[in-house]
Amino acid sequence: MKGNPLLESVNLAYRSAVSKLNLSPDLCAALGSPEREIAITIPVTMDDGRLEVFRGYRVQHSSLRGPYKGGLRYDACVELDEVRALAALMTWKCAVANIPYGGAKGGICCDPKSMSSRELEALTRNYTRMMGSMIGPQFDIPAPDVNTDERIMSWIADEKARGGTPWARASVTGKPIILGGSLGRREATGRGVASVALYALRKAGKNPADCTIAVQGFGKVGSWAAKFLHDAGCKIVAISDVSGAIMRDGGLDIPGIREYVANNRSHLLEGYESQGVRPITGDEILTLKVDALIPAALEAQITSANAGDIRAAAVVEGANGPTTFEADSILNEKGVTVVPDILANVGGVMVSYFEWVQNLQSLQWSFEDVMSRLEQSMERACDEVWAVSDNRGCSLRTAAYILAIKRVAEAAAIRYSVTA
Ligand code: NAD
Repeated sequence: MKGNPLLESVNLAYRSAVSKLNLSPDLCAALGSPEREIAITIPVTMDDGRLEVFRGYRVQHSSLRGPYKGGLRYDACVELDEVRALAALMTWKCAVANIPYGGAKGGICCDPKSMSSRELEALTRNYTRMMGSMIGPQFDIPAPDVNTDERIMSWIADEKARGGTPWARASVTGKPIILGGSLGRREATGRGVASVALYALRKAGKNPADCTIAVQGFGKVGSWAAKFLHDAGCKIVAISDVSGAIMRDGGLDIPGIREYVANNRSHLLEGYESQGVRPITGDEILTLKVDALIPAALEAQITSANAGDIRAAAVVEGANGPTTFEADSILNEKGVTVVPDILANVGGVMVSYFEWVQNLQSLQWSFEDVMSRLEQSMERACDEVWAVSDNRGCSLRTAAYILAIKRVAEAAAIRYSVTA
């Protein structure tokens, strides 16, 4: 049976980078394996009186550089291998960002769209109680991910407060502003993706006003990335979501479309019409000839089956793991610049870190302060990854992994008293 493609890709990228470093095999094995894996059974009394039992996970991949940090995902497809892969990505992402966190990820196998608000609250509170001290402000700090939001984060924080956890609100990030959320967290990931895309275009000697962009996925990450790139003067020629894809050669009206989606009952692109806008297929959007393609929907969208057809000059990974390891090699051979997820979408965890720092000090930074810290941190992370790539003559993905693994290995060497 074939394993989880995301876990395979993450493991292969790790091994490929590690092979370029002079680390002991034992240390490589230790850094590549999760420190702890928790699987729980969560009983919930449903609205109709039935007892339903859910499977929940938290994989704590590394705490070498600080408390565990990573999102919590609610989805019918959640399974342990996927959570393992996403937890490892968080370790490398936090190390690329150089923020003092390790990596973790959680998930509950459920269909949140079919559950009432009361059922979701009971599920979230039961998960939090069963995780006990495994979640907390100095130990492991969840955040929103696919199908989880501010409301779910506030239930977790409230459950921690009821249990007597000191500084309970710092147990999660991505909270509503009134309950200790950070200004700028909502747009942070997309803003970071846009900054990285603009950095890549600049490196290629291109002017944003002459550039065309396609964005797959118009949710929390994709719609903000499209907005900031549109604001920077780029032409967003195509976008898509689960309901379909649209294109306009002269560029789409991104502010108008964001407003349409916000007010549309389904919060989807379906039904959007405007002069010059035509529908295309979800597959077509990936193979358009554009300056940058931003996959910001799901994992494993660019595979060995379609990588040969990609005509974008650059792929900027807004989503986690949108390109499989095989596809990545094909794109590298074709000369496509691939900016990896662990750099491109790092803005989310950066502002989560800012939120946690504000909570621990009972401060509220201004929106401008958050954005300027984010911009500076993104620029620094890009400079560092590009420098490793230039010095070693390797892809940006390998460079980002090398930078991250070296930082985690350095922490391990000191903490384990071994030679890295
Ligand atoms: P979201 O649920 O807000 O948005 C996902 C979007 O993808 C939606 O527009 C959905 O309609 C669309 N989509 C789903 N299936 C599709 C398909 N087959 N074709 C085209 N579009 C499709 O989720 P999000 O928070 O924007 O996350 C997107 C990705 O970014 C995920 O991989 C997530 O792990 C990653 N990510 C998110 C954050 C964050 O802060 N939200 C941070 C880092 C990484």
